[in-house]
Amino acid sequence: MKQFQRTVEDFTCEQCGTFVTGNGYTNHCPNCLYSKHVDRFPGDRASTCGGLMKPIDVIVHAGEMVDVIQECQRCGHRHTNKLSDMDNREVLMQVMAEQAEKRAKGLV
Ligand SMILES: [Zn+2]
Ligand SMILES: [Zn+2]
Repeated sequence: MKQFQRTVEDFTCEQCGTFVTGNGYTNHCPNCLYSKHVDRFPGDRASTCGGLMKPIDVIVHAGEMVDVIQECQRCGHRHTNKLSDMDNREVLMQVMAEQAEKRAKGLV
C-alpha cells in the first residue's frame, strides 16, 4: 500500500529479526541497535560493504543518550548514528556497560 512518496526503507533486522518500519531518518534497528553498512557518508548509500554495524558505544550529552557509535563487523568502518525515542534503552545501557568494562580493562 503506497500512501505517500518518501524515501523510507522498511527492512527486517539481520541481527534480531525485528521488522523495522523506516521513517526516513534512521536505518538502525530500534530493538538491538544494529544496522547495515550501506553508507560511506550518512545517507548516501554508497557503500557496497553490507556488513552488520554493531553498537559499540553510546554518546551521552547532558544526561541524555544522543548518539550510538556503530562498528562494521566486516570492514571495521565506524559511524555515529542519532538515537530516536523508539530505541531500546536497555540495550544501550548494556552497550555502555560493556564499553565501560573494556575501558577498565584497558582494551579500548
Ligand atoms: Zn535488530
Ligand atoms: Zn563495512
